[in-house]
Amino acid sequence: MKLYALGTGSGMASKDLNCSCYLVEREDKSFILDCGEGCTQTLVRMDYDICEIEAIIICHFHPDHLCGVFMLLQTMYLKKRTKPLKLYLPEREDEFLGFMQYMYLFDEKFAYALKIRSILDLPKDYPYFSLVENDHLIGYTAVIEGGNLPNQQRAYSVRIAGEKGDFAYSSDIGSIKSIEGLIDGVHTFICDGLHPPYEELERLLGLSIKRVILTHETPDEAIKSLKAKDAERFEAIRQGESYTI
Ligand SMILES: [Zn+2]
Repeated sequence: MKLYALGTGSGMASKDLNCSCYLVEREDKSFILDCGEGCTQTLVRMDYDICEIEAIIICHFHPDHLCGVFMLLQTMYLKKRTKPLKLYLPEREDEFLGFMQYMYLFDEKFAYALKIRSILDLPKDYPYFSLVENDHLIGYTAVIEGGNLPNQQRAYSVRIAGEKGDFAYSSDIGSIKSIEGLIDGVHTFICDGLHPPYEELERLLGLSIKRVILTHETPDEAIKSLKAKDAERFEAIRQGESYTI
């Protein structure tokens, strides 16, 4: 299994980092995990055959994880993709085609079938995926309840099983505690080190994970402190790098 770090930035635009986006190749299938700005251009620069990508998985609906998807869908359309594409969404999947219409992105015009599914269907379609709902969006409760808004505050972390070991990807999280059951025992864990407080990141020291790669613009002090405690297991992610199990 191979993971390409296509976008390792945060929610703040950066001079040289794309927003969150990862490409995973497992056997003959490839998956996009989150799809922030810069994703399509990076894949084009890599000469990657985007018409063969199996599925796009959006773990939560913040702009830095979603906003690259429209250009990717459009570029697949312009490249005359014919292979069906699954797009997994964390919530409100029934409304997504309406959202695309704002951009004159009409799936009727695509030569490929766009299959929009709930992220909860992911393990049913690909049994090597597992996921857990995390606590990244809980801070919005007051504004959502106050405004009687339809947002469901769903955010997920995913794990992909492989023959030589498993990958896990936190996407954005509020705490390590909320995903401990999912990530314990994985070989390589791509972890949001920006949002959880440092004491939460220290929980990783007690878990059985071979390699922790800190992303989403993890503060330097946090990386330094974790490396001081266990230099073998912790490292900072590098955009453009690929990681193999
Ligand atoms: Zn984010």
